[in-house]
Amino acid sequence: MTDHDDKPPFPERISLCLLLQAGEMEELDRRSSRPTAVCAKCGLKANDIGDLCQGRPWHKR
Ligand SMILES: [Zn+2]
Repeated sequence: MTDHDDKPPFPERISLCLLLQAGEMEELDRRSSRPTAVCAKCGLKANDIGDLCQGRPWHKR
């Protein structure tokens, strides 16, 4: 059994914070290309506030 290499697709609503912990930077980048929110806990930025564990609105200066 070598299904070890085959990663299952991510659930759509997995938080970016969990992606960071999983080291999935590619998926993380994809979801933070035009950030509108920042995580108060992890400091991550995301396109969608719902992608963060403690999302707060964030505005680029
Ligand atoms: Zn977070």
